[in-house]
Amino acid sequence: MNKNPPSLPQLSFSSILRGLCPSCHSGKVTRGFFGTYPQCAKCRYDFHPESGFYLGAMVVSFFVTAALTIPPMILLKILDVELEILLAFPFLEFLLLGPVLLVYSKILWLHLEYRLTHQLNKPDR
Ligand SMILES: [Zn+2]
Repeated sequence: MNKNPPSLPQLSFSSILRGLCPSCHSGKVTRGFFGTYPQCAKCRYDFHPESGFYLGAMVVSFFVTAALTIPPMILLKILDVELEILLAFPFLEFLLLGPVLLVYSKILWLHLEYRLTHQLNKPDR
């Protein structure tokens, strides 16, 4: 557990996609589809460091949702699609991507917290 975290470019994009622990990159974070384990089964990294920890995932979810919604809406407007389609797009997108965004925003938040905490606690800083 004392190994240094990988550098930022090495931040394992694949372990975020696979929902793996930010510390050891081998233990699963998610239990079922919406739940999270209390700690990593492999390295015992705490997945719930404080109460309300995952409220920060809402901010991540907001920015990811904005990034996935606003550019396509602008493109649809430029393509001059009908107003009904333009208004229905965000609702259909949320129905399809909402559950996935919920899960991945929590995993991404956990990885960001791990990265920031271990970057700030390095002895050379
Ligand atoms: Zn782990």
